[in-house]
Amino acid sequence: MSSLEIRDLHVSVDDKEILRGVDLTVRSGETHAIMGPNGSGKSTLAYAIAGHPKYTITSGAVLLDGEDVLSMTVDERARAGLFLAMQYPVEVPGVTVSNFLRSAVTAVRGEAPKLRVFTKELKQGMDALAIDAAFAQRNLNEGFSGGEKKRHEILQLELLKPKIAILDETDSGLDVDALRVVSEGINRFGASGETGVLLITHYTRILRYVKPQFVHVFSAGRIVEEGGPELAEQLEAEGYERFTKASA
Ligand code: ADP
Ligand code: MG
Ligand code: MG
Repeated sequence: MSSLEIRDLHVSVDDKEILRGVDLTVRSGETHAIMGPNGSGKSTLAYAIAGHPKYTITSGAVLLDGEDVLSMTVDERARAGLFLAMQYPVEVPGVTVSNFLRSAVTAVRGEAPKLRVFTKELKQGMDALAIDAAFAQRNLNEGFSGGEKKRHEILQLELLKPKIAILDETDSGLDVDALRVVSEGINRFGASGETGVLLITHYTRILRYVKPQFVHVFSAGRIVEEGGPELAEQLEAEGYERFTKASA
């Protein structure tokens, strides 16, 4: 049983306070959704937990199984079992998907998997996600479509088996097939009981496929409402207007 505890987190970018006290706990086996209007600070939360240098933690704490995440290097965070999928993953020319994934697996497991074993593992993962074999030899994130980025994200989850996965989604660009593959992946992880999922999303559409037990609404850098799946349905019907009004 693992847990990620975010306690009264305050984060600034260029001396401007963006997160103004976020409290949230995600345990293995739970799926949480953070929803909210554009600019409410959802991605800032993901970047801050990932350790992006532009995001300054001014107060608060983030603990993974009681360990202080914020004092860990980015590598240590991954080894500790934290997985973060960014809204805009970087392109890395000259590094193939296969090389990247083997390095990531090596870093997280603490030893390099035998090439033959890894190749088999990778193929199984790709088959399960209906990813074409040629994908493994493409340059990392270069020219990836929205659907390919998301499939790659879930492939990483399959191989790395993190304790806590934070997925910052742009589900806007996803066709229904990609949405379904991604959702199935997330649901499988949620159901395994071994991973806790924090799904960050502006759009309610993905929540037709992924059923989070907990929904948190973000507005102006803090959680302003919490509830169960019914809250997501309410947001789909009504939008975020009442929250943006409340914080203006
Ligand atoms: P969301 O993901 O909910 O749309 P963000 O976390 O991206 O919101 O942004 C929240 C606020 O923080 C916005 O006002 C945005 O302009 C600001 N912000 C976020 N990241 C940066 C950055 N790297 N540089 C400058 N401002 C930023
Ligand atoms: Mg506070
Ligand atoms: Mg965002």
